[in-house]
Amino acid sequence: MSNSSKSRQRTKAEYRMRTHLIHGNFESKKWDYDHHVVPPLSSSATYRLSSAHRGAQGFFEFASEATDFTKHVPIYIYDRLEEPTRGMLEENLAYAEGGEMCVSFATGMAAISGVLGMLCEAGHEIVAHQVLYGCTYSLMTHWLPRYGVQTKFVDLKNEAALRAAITAKTRAIYFETPVNPDLSLIDIAAVRKIANRINQDRPPERQIQIVVDNTFATPYCQRPLPLGANFVVNSLTKGIGGFGTDMGGAVVGPQKFYAPLMLYRKDFGGVLSPKSAWPCLVYGLPTLATRMINMQKTAHRVAKFLQEHPKVARVVYPGLESHPQYELAKRQMTNYEGKFAPGAMIYFVLNGEKAGTHSVAALGEKFIDYIADHAYSITLAVSLGQIKTLIESPYSMTHSALPEEEKLQRGMEPGGIRLSLGLEDWHDVIEDLQEALAQV
Ligand SMILES: *Cc1c(COP(=O)(O)O)cnc(C)c1O
Repeated sequence: MSNSSKSRQRTKAEYRMRTHLIHGNFESKKWDYDHHVVPPLSSSATYRLSSAHRGAQGFFEFASEATDFTKHVPIYIYDRLEEPTRGMLEENLAYAEGGEMCVSFATGMAAISGVLGMLCEAGHEIVAHQVLYGCTYSLMTHWLPRYGVQTKFVDLKNEAALRAAITAKTRAIYFETPVNPDLSLIDIAAVRKIANRINQDRPPERQIQIVVDNTFATPYCQRPLPLGANFVVNSLTKGIGGFGTDMGGAVVGPQKFYAPLMLYRKDFGGVLSPKSAWPCLVYGLPTLATRMINMQKTAHRVAKFLQEHPKVARVVYPGLESHPQYELAKRQMTNYEGKFAPGAMIYFVLNGEKAGTHSVAALGEKFIDYIADHAYSITLAVSLGQIKTLIESPYSMTHSALPEEEKLQRGMEPGGIRLSLGLEDWHDVIEDLQEALAQV
């Protein structure tokens, strides 16, 4: 890349990421994309094969580790193996995360179970952060042990605890950052350093792989791969999909894991339907930057409002200087231009003591119920990252899979409230919160 004369045309790679997200991959070999302004939505469970030889070739290439799937027109055989609409989305997701390849899945949970199922076999161990999305915790405690894969849960903010938890059997370190729901952060580069020290004495097949769930931040606000993760998983149902119409998940990581992940997905069967890939490809990803910029502005204003309100005991938002890991937030959560991008999720706890008779949990419930009944701009619902502002109580809802004692032990509070800011006028969101706060 050189500083050239005015007349030189920019190459497509020189355009900014926000433009790339809208115009998509410009080198797709998966479809005649060049002549469509909007990429087509294909829907065909099976594909006509012009000869038995072509069919055999298709199966051979799909299962072959030697095939470079990215520079090659695939022989489409059957939707569950490979499919063009999904393929286009995968190329763009890999690009958005700064990774070599992407394999999409039917849901975020299918993506998480896919990458862990591909990396681990019986006898292997995972080290995971002690607070995780409820279903991820349930996967690690109920199902993976049946396959002989155990998970050790530690506080990954504590580097000594991480080092102590790693054994010869450890194959994966797994965490979310920001953590769902408490919005604490895990230092990806610090975890990378620890894994590197251990990996230098291990052969390639026993290397520890770092898997980061980037659902809360989205690639607009944070790219875990350049920060040191090996794999990044996203629930496309949330911020990337953005409109709440469809479910999906994605794993982005190194090219050498493309074939095993595709084979895993083929046999466990959790493929993303092309009908769900399409809205993500044409609405979700192209509007990700614009949505996140505006939702983040609202989140910042709402976080400040809550912080100053006497009935709020604690607000956790990575964009507030009061966040206990504010310096890490500024380092780790940046947009494509390198500017601070703390996201659109807020966690807060009401002030129980000042209210006298009510416990924090009862207050939280009363507050949320008032919102559900009266707030036009805030919806009581799980999920997040949508254009509508959503509120929920993680302790009793999204994280109910964690046993009661475990939740308390891991620092989750019964009255904690999770807020996912949307695209409404921020004055309305603050006024609705103000009114509900006046009632508790
Ligand atoms: C929702 C969520 C998931 C699961 O995604 P689904 O698409 O619902 O399967 C995983 N991780 C985090 C952090 C989530 O919020």
